[in-house]
Amino acid sequence: MRPFAYVRAEAIADAVRPEAAAPHYLAGGTTLVDLMKLDVLRPAAVVDINGLAPRHGGIEAGRQGLRLGALARMSEAEAHPAVRRDYPVIAQSLQLAASPQLRNMASLGGNVLQRTRCSYFRDTAHPACNKREPGSGCSALDGAHRSHALLATSEQCIASYPGDFAQALVALGATVELAGPAGARTIAFEDLHRGGDDAPHLETTLRPGELILAFRVPAAPFARRSLYLKVRDRQSYAFALASAAVALDLGPGREVRELRLALGGVATRPWRAHAAEAALRGRRLDESAARQAAEAAFADARPRAHNAFKVELGKRTVVRALLAAARMEIPA
Ligand code: SF4
Repeated sequence: MRPFAYVRAEAIADAVRPEAAAPHYLAGGTTLVDLMKLDVLRPAAVVDINGLAPRHGGIEAGRQGLRLGALARMSEAEAHPAVRRDYPVIAQSLQLAASPQLRNMASLGGNVLQRTRCSYFRDTAHPACNKREPGSGCSALDGAHRSHALLATSEQCIASYPGDFAQALVALGATVELAGPAGARTIAFEDLHRGGDDAPHLETTLRPGELILAFRVPAAPFARRSLYLKVRDRQSYAFALASAAVALDLGPGREVRELRLALGGVATRPWRAHAAEAALRGRRLDESAARQAAEAAFADARPRAHNAFKVELGKRTVVRALLAAARMEIPA
């Protein structure tokens, strides 16, 4: 590991300083320290933000919705009774994301910013990786890309977004509170990530030096009938080959009043399947309708030699998730 400057921030003003070059923020360190050891990230300065946890690590649940402090640990959020009862897709996405040890360390803010698992990105022996070295090329296009993306890809990068929790936040229409050198702002969570464009090294819309403070999740009717389905090579401690976060509101005749569907493991960013949502809105949710929605979700898929199996796998994941959400018993 290379030498770097270490600063511990006790207040937002210590962390977000207009005069400072944009630092790397350290919370749980489960992504940052890994990538520093691999020499993929070489920060000149690391700002430890764990001193902000008393003000930005809490979980508040009320009638209007949920506020998840960015420094809350994954294990704290997944175990919170209101999260488990009223926002099950969040609890499930966190529980399925990683080992208990990692979930005890990793912060929610860091989790949504985790970097891709593309092996060419993580191994500096491969010089061609546009995400690590802009303009260097993409080793995965003609290399090993079994786990790579089908949606929102480009000729510059086909790396899958690796997280799970982000899909839950997309499905629930969450927003993100940010602090930065130019002040505070709030954006839709769906607008936080970018992908599928000509600049794969730019993974988010965060401005230089901006820090995530919290996620807000509205108490919408579809939040309680929500779930996360993750399909992977082995049943624990693996990244998704395909996943689906579903949030569903059914009418008295079991017709779809509202549906939110976000996909993981198949796109370069947390992917909201708008076409699938539109295909089901107002219809009775049965297997045939679910399959039509799944076809719509993958209509724009661009598979390659090693990951073509993920098209059908992704569709089956969507069908299973939709039908399971429709069957959920919602406690009064
Ligand atoms: Fe790099 Fe993206 Fe290509 Fe992987 S897919 S080698 S991360 S540019």
